[in-house]
Amino acid sequence: MPTALETLAKILKLEREQGYRNSAVIGGMSAFADHWQRDAHTQARRPEHHILVDEMIDLLHAYDRIESTDERHARVGYMLERITGRTPAPERYLSRLSQYIEDTPSPPPAPPGVETTETPVNVEAEGEQPRRKKEKSRKKEERAAPDQRTEPPTRAEKSRGAPAPQANTSNRRAPGRPGANEDDESAFERPGGFNSESSRLDDYIDFSSKPSKRDLPLPPKLARPPRQPRAEIDEAASLDLLYGLHNSVERVKGVGPKQQELLEKVGIRSINDLLFTFPTRYDDYTQMNPIARLTAKTLATVIGTVRHTEVRVGRTGRRDFFMRVDDGSGTIGVSCFGQPYLQRTLPIGQQVVLRGQTSLFQNQIQLTNPEIQPLDLEDLQAARIVPVYRLTEGLNNRQLRRIIEKALDYWEDRIPDFIPEATLERLDLADLGWALRQMHFPAGWDHQQHAKHRLVFDQLLMLQLTIMANRRQWQAIPAIPLPIEDSLLDALIGTMFPYPLTGAQRRSIEAIRADIERPVPMNRLLQGDVGSGKTAVAAAALAVAAFAGGQAAIMAPTSILAEQHYHGIGAAFARIPDEMLFDADGNGRRPVVRLLTGSVRGAEREAILDGLRSGGVDVLIGTQAVIQSGVEFSNLTLTIIDEQHRFGVEQRGALRGKGTNPHLLVMTATPIPRTFALTVHADLDLSIIDEMPPGRTPVRTRVIDPTQRVKAYDLIEEQVALGRQAFIVYPLVEASDRIDAESAVEGFAALRQVFHRARVGLLHGRMSPDEKDSIMAAFRDHAFDIMVTTSVAEVGVDIPNASVMVIEGANRFGLSQLHQFRGRVGRGGFQSYCLLVCDSELPDAVARLMILEKTHDGFVLAQKDFELRGAGDLLGTQQSGKGSLELLEGIDITFVEEAQREARTVYQVDPDMTDREHRLLAARIRGLQDSRSDVS
Ligand code: ADP
Ligand code: MG
Repeated sequence: MPTALETLAKILKLEREQGYRNSAVIGGMSAFADHWQRDAHTQARRPEHHILVDEMIDLLHAYDRIESTDERHARVGYMLERITGRTPAPERYLSRLSQYIEDTPSPPPAPPGVETTETPVNVEAEGEQPRRKKEKSRKKEERAAPDQRTEPPTRAEKSRGAPAPQANTSNRRAPGRPGANEDDESAFERPGGFNSESSRLDDYIDFSSKPSKRDLPLPPKLARPPRQPRAEIDEAASLDLLYGLHNSVERVKGVGPKQQELLEKVGIRSINDLLFTFPTRYDDYTQMNPIARLTAKTLATVIGTVRHTEVRVGRTGRRDFFMRVDDGSGTIGVSCFGQPYLQRTLPIGQQVVLRGQTSLFQNQIQLTNPEIQPLDLEDLQAARIVPVYRLTEGLNNRQLRRIIEKALDYWEDRIPDFIPEATLERLDLADLGWALRQMHFPAGWDHQQHAKHRLVFDQLLMLQLTIMANRRQWQAIPAIPLPIEDSLLDALIGTMFPYPLTGAQRRSIEAIRADIERPVPMNRLLQGDVGSGKTAVAAAALAVAAFAGGQAAIMAPTSILAEQHYHGIGAAFARIPDEMLFDADGNGRRPVVRLLTGSVRGAEREAILDGLRSGGVDVLIGTQAVIQSGVEFSNLTLTIIDEQHRFGVEQRGALRGKGTNPHLLVMTATPIPRTFALTVHADLDLSIIDEMPPGRTPVRTRVIDPTQRVKAYDLIEEQVALGRQAFIVYPLVEASDRIDAESAVEGFAALRQVFHRARVGLLHGRMSPDEKDSIMAAFRDHAFDIMVTTSVAEVGVDIPNASVMVIEGANRFGLSQLHQFRGRVGRGGFQSYCLLVCDSELPDAVARLMILEKTHDGFVLAQKDFELRGAGDLLGTQQSGKGSLELLEGIDITFVEEAQREARTVYQVDPDMTDREHRLLAARIRGLQDSRSDVS
C-alpha cells in the first residue's frame, strides 16, 4: 500500500501526464485534499511532516482555481519537489513547527531547528525501490482476488462526497494485512507501513491508464498480453482470407439489405471497412463526474436524467435547445445552440451521457453543446469503455457496435497477420486480431493505446511502401531534359523581377534547375510560407523550360489565383529583354503565355487549344480547366501545381498525364515538419523557402474573447475610414448540428447592420466557383470594404489593401490554417492586424492561440500544430478518405520515423515484396488498392 504522500505523488504525476486538466482525481484536487488530509496527518510522524501536509493541502485547495496550464505545471512541479525533499519548506510553514511539536504525542527525535532543511520524505530514495516493487505486486495480487478487496463505495456514496471521516480507523491496524502491525514511528519513510485504509483514496483517483476499480473482475494489468508464437502460415489459406475481407458486409451475420444500405452511408461496404472503421471517440463509463463536483472550464462526462427541456429563440432568430439534467448529486443546465430538434429526441426522464466543456454562466456551472448519447444501462453496469462511431439517420451506435462485434467474433482469430513477426517483436507491436478487438472494445486505455499503435504502424508502413513503389515505377520512364547555361539563368533572374530574389528563392531555383536538366522526371515539393515569393520561383522555372524549347503549365486552385499568376508571371516574361530572345539576325521569338480558366470560352479557348497542340503557346496558366479532356500539348515538359494541398493525387496525375512524363513541381504554403513530409511525400524531393522578402511588417495579432468583439469592430471602422479593407472569417457556412459556429450567413446579416456605412460582401464555400471568383475579384477591386467569409479565404490571393483580419471561433482552426488566413493581410505597406476571437474558455485553447501572437513563422506553427493536435491537421484534404491517416492524431514523431525505417528496410531487401515473409503484406496492399479503385 502506498503512503499518503506516495499516493499524492502518483496523482501529481498523473495530472502532469494528463496535461494539467485537473482530471487526475475525480472531483478535482480540492475535493481530494479534504479526503487526503486525514490520512496524511495520521501518518505524519514528525512536525515537519505535518507542515508539509499542511502546505500540500493549501496548495491542493488552490489548485482548482489556477487557470493557466503553465501555472499548474509550475505548481505540480513544486509540489513534487517538496514531497521528494528537493525544495525546503517555505518560511510561512516553518513557523508552524512549534505548534506541531506541542501537539504531537510521540516526541520528535531532534529539535526542529536542526531538521528543517533536511529531506522530509524521500519517496524516491533508492534503497526503497525493491521493497516498493514488492508491495506493488502484492497489491496486484490483492486486487486480482476480489473477495479480499475492501468494498468500493457505491456511486451514490461517491457522488455525495468523501466518505465520512469516522470510517473505521480501527481497521487501520487490523491484523493479517501486510505491514499492518509494524509499530512504526516513521510510516512516512517506509512505504507499506500501513494498510488498506488508504486504498479508499484509490477510489478517488482516476488512473486512466489503469483498469477499472468497479465490481467486475479486473482486466489484466499488462499493457497487452504476450503474443502467442505464430503458427506456421498456410499461405494459400491466408491469401483467401485476406481477400475475403473485401467481401460485402452482407456476409456478416445479422446484416440485411436495409442495414447494408445504412452502413454504406457511413462509408462501410466491405467487412474490411467494418473492421477498420474505428470509433471517433469513446465514452468511458469508468470515469464519470458527479454534477455536484464539476468545476468550470473542464471537459466533463456526466450521466443523468433529463428533467426539463425547452427551446428558446435567440436574438438572431436562431432556435436553441436547453435542458436540465439531474444525476442525484445535483443538476446542471445544458445549452445546445441551433439544435431545436433535440427536444423531440430527448424526452423528460430520458437518461443520457453528456460529454463536453463546462463553463460558468451567471455563477452556475453549465454545459454547452456537449455530445449527447442515450445512456446504455448495460455499459454503465459493466463500467466499460464504450466506442462511439460516426452514424447516420437510422443507424444507432448500439446497432453498429453489435455488427462490429459480430464481425470481430469471426475475424479476431482468423485475420491473417501480414506484418512479419520479427518486425512486431522488434517494435513491441500487438497482433492484428487483438489490436482490432481492443481498438473497438478496449479493456483499458493501455490496451487501446497498444492497439492504436499497431494499427497506425500498419497504415504508415503501407503508405510508405506504396509511395516508394510508385516513385520507382514513374521514374523508370525518362523525362525530357531541360538544360540552361549559367549565364542565361543569371540573366533571366536578373531581368524578370523588379526586386532581387532572396537567397532562399535562388537556392530553390538552383535545385529545380539541377533536377530538370536530367532525363529523370523531377518530383519536387516547394514549401514556402505565405508571401515568401513562390510565384517568382515558379516563373523562373517556367522560363527555363520555355528557353529549352519545351511547353510548361502551371495550375492554381481558383481562377482568381490563376488570373493573379497570369498578370504576375506575364509581366515577368515581358521584362525579358529582346536581346535575350532574338539573335543578331532577328531570329527567335518571345514566349507566348496564355490563361485558361473555366470562363475562357468560344474562339478564345479554341485559339489557345490550337496553340497548345501546335506548340505556338509556350506557357499555360490556368485552373483545373487545364487538365480537362481536349486540352492537348505538343510537348509538355514541366508542370507546376500551386497550393497543392487543394488538389488531390488524381489531379496531379492528370496534369502529369498531359505530357510524356513531364517534370513536376508542387508548391505549398502549408508547411509540414520535415520528418513527416518525408513520410507523406516520400516520393517528393523537398525545397524550402525559409526566408521572407525584406521589408515586411509583422501582422499585429491578438487573441480576444467574444465580449471584446466591439473593439475589433471599432478597429475595422477605423481602418475602413482610412481606406483599408477587412476580412471577417467564420468557421462554418451554416449552423451545423454539433458546433455552435455562428455561420457566415447569419453573421453577414448582422454585420451589415453593424457596419451600415461600409460596403459588406459575403463569400462562402457553398457558392459556385464562378460566384466566388467574381466576389473575390470585386473585393480586390475595392468594390467592398469588408468581406465576410468562411475558410475559403485561405488560399493565396493578393489584396495589398486589406489590413484587418478578424477570425471568429479561431479555436476551431489549426494554427497553420490561422496563419494562412493571417497571410491575407499585411501584403501592402500598411500596418495590419489579426484578431482571433476565442469562444472557448478552456485555458488550453486560449494558450494555443496565443502562440500566434508571438510567432510569425509558419514552420514553427506547423510544428506546434503537430505537437498539439497530431498529424491530422497537416494532412488537410489531400489524404482524406478511407484508410487515411486519421489515426495519426497524437502519434509521436519518433514512431513515424520507426515505421519509415521499417518500410525502407523492406524496400531495400525485397523491393518487389516477393520474399516469403513479405508476400502477405504485398497482398494486403494490393487488396486495399483494388478495393479503393472499385469505390472511386
Ligand atoms: P507566395 O509564396 O505566398 O505565393 P507570392 O509569390 O504571392 O507569395 O509573393 C508575395 C509578394 O511578395 C508578391 O507581391 C511578390 O511580388 C513579392 N515578392 C516576391 N519575392 C520578392 C522578393 N525577393 N523581394 C521583394 N518582394 C518579393
Ligand atoms: Mg502563392
